[in-house]
Amino acid sequence: MTHRYVDKHILVTGGASGLGFEIARQFGSEGALLTIFDYNELALQKATDTLTQSGYHVNPFHTDVSVQPDVIEAVAAAEKIAPIEVLVNNAGICLVTPFLNITKQEWHKTLDINLTGAFYVAQSVCRHMAERKRGVVLNMSSKNGLDGEFGHAHYNASKAGLILFTKTVAIELAHLGIRANAVCPGYVRSPINYEVDSDEFVEQFAERYIPINRVGKVTDVAPIFLFLASDEAAYITGQTFVIDGGQLAGMKAGDSLLQEIRLD
Ligand code: NAD
Repeated sequence: MTHRYVDKHILVTGGASGLGFEIARQFGSEGALLTIFDYNELALQKATDTLTQSGYHVNPFHTDVSVQPDVIEAVAAAEKIAPIEVLVNNAGICLVTPFLNITKQEWHKTLDINLTGAFYVAQSVCRHMAERKRGVVLNMSSKNGLDGEFGHAHYNASKAGLILFTKTVAIELAHLGIRANAVCPGYVRSPINYEVDSDEFVEQFAERYIPINRVGKVTDVAPIFLFLASDEAAYITGQTFVIDGGQLAGMKAGDSLLQEIRLD
């Protein structure tokens, strides 16, 4: 186990659950001082208890990333604890609605949290990072920011927006010592989809679409955040990293084709 983040202050939004929790946990296991923003108070308390019991240092903030004055206040309070070195903009929601039925409320809620929320947190944190001429911003986009999927027009628009937001932040802030990259996971089993998708659906989905033949785990995705935040990634900025078991690489071969080309 390396300890790249001893005493480094890492802010993870939406860190009370799923991918954000695992990213926070892995940074914590390498010695980081953790701050978590999450609007689910109960989940935030539970996550804080779990991480604290593991011996990690956690500052929980009950914050909704889509409310700018609350974000500014929470970032200022977190900066007083210690300068934020890495921001993981992970908070997000995924509503599934066919395009013709998406309501104005669903559209705005998705964009407000997934895209505008990331902007509020990044701008607020980067103003501090810019003064220090040092910092890393990692935005949680999605495979769905790169290609379409039925029922996800609002979600896909928010995640695609995050990719170009990331590139522009990267080119604007490179001279200030700030790097920005986006990560695009494919399907990862987490609370965001537990209630919507049965185990049977997930198994069939993997069989049909994912060359590696299984859906992702939170532990498949978290390590790239630790790499991208590290000095080993000092020359990497403005990029988009896909972690999807090969789904976006192209169409998966069906069983009959695989049998035909099988090497004995
Ligand atoms: P999750 O529901 O387990 O976690 C999301 C967390 O964000 C929750 O703790 C939630 O309370 C918090 N959150 C939501 N809205 C918030 C707000 N306005 N302010 C503060 N906190 C808020 O889901 P997850 O699967 O871990 O998703 C995390 C991120 O990864 C999301 O941005 C999601 O779009 C993205 N993602 C997930 C998958 C997947 O298949 N699970 C794939 C690609 C991308």
